[in-house]
Amino acid sequence: WAKADGGSRWTLFDPERDAHRVTRQALSSALRPAVERGEFVLEYQPLVGLGDGRLHGVEALVRWQHPQYGLLPPNRFISLAEEDGSIVPLGRWVLRTACAQARAWQLAHPEGQVPYVSVNVAVRQLWDSDLVADVGKVLRETGLPPGLLQLELTESAVMGSSGRPLKALRELKERGVRIAIDDFGTGYSSLAYLSRLPVSALKLDGSFVRAFRQGESAQERGDAEGVTHPADEVIVEAMVQLAHRLGLTVTAECVETAGQAARLREIGCDTGQGWLYSRPVPPEHITALLNSPSPPRT
Ligand code: C2E
Ligand code: MG
Ligand code: MG
Ligand code: MG
Repeated sequence: WAKADGGSRWTLFDPERDAHRVTRQALSSALRPAVERGEFVLEYQPLVGLGDGRLHGVEALVRWQHPQYGLLPPNRFISLAEEDGSIVPLGRWVLRTACAQARAWQLAHPEGQVPYVSVNVAVRQLWDSDLVADVGKVLRETGLPPGLLQLELTESAVMGSSGRPLKALRELKERGVRIAIDDFGTGYSSLAYLSRLPVSALKLDGSFVRAFRQGESAQERGDAEGVTHPADEVIVEAMVQLAHRLGLTVTAECVETAGQAARLREIGCDTGQGWLYSRPVPPEHITALLNSPSPPRT
């Protein structure tokens, strides 16, 4: 007999958890061959200028088109891929596919402004592979200008960075690739510490945005200048100001309401990403957006 996690119910076995464990094992052994068979697809989610409503960038998000289980979200397989090392070939595929796509968008719009593509990089890609060489090769082969590529790393990946990862990030930034800290604020790094790392942007974790007073902007609340705001907003505002003084741009994740977007704009965030603007979509949707006569407005 085992006590079910967090519950008062005693069960012989938890069928749901058991099924989950079985699929975890099945997925893990299937990962590497799936990379070779090309079972992964990328969706792209817009990063929209809070001030100008323009499409500044798109984040590439990987999905596994599994022959039996259907379209699997990354939380079902990324940690497995990190554990067994298949994140290295998978990460290479993501990088190449995203850069080739961004280059195609650029070639289709030689005059216009095209969005940069933002690619998630797992910590293991910094330690177990030559990220600088991989990125260099992909940029060369696709022809994508380095300025149109952003790499997203979590705080823990760069925390206490020394040696190999730090050297890699420095070289990449020197080549003109943007480096962003993903899910910023959930870890233990401080902005003072980050200022010593080769970083160009912060992606403020969705938990900060979610904590904003439910979907209201200061104007909607009728606040005057100088009126006190909830603690979370004050902290976010201070982080944004400090980030700007350090020369970093700030993107807010998980923007779901117009009120949140308005407040983030007041606070000075540069770009927003979230369901308010768009869910992650197949590349054709971004192509259509770029082909539409007027840019998307908020
Ligand atoms: P992330 O990099 O922080 O990506 C943002 C996640 O938030 C995405 O989940 C996105 O769909 C979701 N999201 C966006 N807007 C909203 C919103 O308004 N509300 C809510 N509730 N959620 C929103 P997704 O696509 O399931 O990806 C989850 C995580 O998987 C990513 O978090 C990233 O850490 C990881 N991941 C995705 N693709 C890759 C990849 O190619 N390589 C690596 N190493 N990790 C990846
Ligand atoms: Mg990300
Ligand atoms: Mg994120
Ligand atoms: Mg996140």
